[in-house]
Amino acid sequence: TLSIQVEGLSKTYGQQKAVDQISFRAVPGKVLGFLGPNGAGKSTTMRMLTGYLQPTSGSANLGGFDTQRQSLEMRRILGYLPENTPLYTDMYVREFLSFVADTYQLERSAIKVKEVIARVGLGDEQHKKISMLSKGYKQRVGLAQAIIHDPSILILDEPTTGLDPNQLTDIRELIRNLGKDKTVILSTHIMQEVEALCDQVVIINKGKIVADASLTELKSKH
Ligand code: ADP
Ligand code: ADP
Repeated sequence: TLSIQVEGLSKTYGQQKAVDQISFRAVPGKVLGFLGPNGAGKSTTMRMLTGYLQPTSGSANLGGFDTQRQSLEMRRILGYLPENTPLYTDMYVREFLSFVADTYQLERSAIKVKEVIARVGLGDEQHKKISMLSKGYKQRVGLAQAIIHDPSILILDEPTTGLDPNQLTDIRELIRNLGKDKTVILSTHIMQEVEALCDQVVIINKGKIVADASLTELKSKH
């Protein structure tokens, strides 16, 4: 089983401590909400967890892999939906997903592009150009690229920001289903999102963790 372990993780930009000595653990089968206002340090943390940004100090371990090493083996167990997902908008949906799948250098049989397309509800859009899709459908493409290699760990950075209410309901439902057999961290600035999707919540403010509790514990206190 693959958990995520964060120990004393920090990132300093110039004089500013964007992330300051944070430690927490995320466990399989649960969705951990990483909640905090804009500027709290969420994206910086997500980028360090996924190996895209080097910490100033501390460590993060995903399923036994040190994230700073950026190994292919680690990428294979990790699905990541960055904030403002960089999609190749000139590509067709299916073409893009096959392209992303190839970067994992897995056996053909391990990659099920058709199944993933169906799972995220992109069946009717798969032959369209990404640039032609609505924001909600683009976000489905973002989720599809994150799960294309069937990762055990899923890191979603503000996955519902900017969606209209209908899209929001659909994407949340999708995340709930995807999360069932994975270890998930979802960053958000919206408490309702945590209530809708998460089992565990870590609250970050000004780079520091101010709460780490189950959703039940958190609700009983407020
Ligand atoms: P959040 O995702 O919670 O909105 P961020 O992690 O994006 O927060 O940012 C945390 C703080 O670090 C903010 O004050 C932000 O301006 C600053 N910051 C983020 N990235 C950089 C960077 N590349 N250079 C300098 N400061 C940064
Ligand atoms: P978020 O919406 O998570 O707060 P931002 O809009 O702060 O993200 O960051 C967008 C990009 O700009 C990121 O690559 C981040 O590292 C960079 N960035 C954010 N704040 C600063 C800053 N104060 N100085 C330089 N780069 C920054």
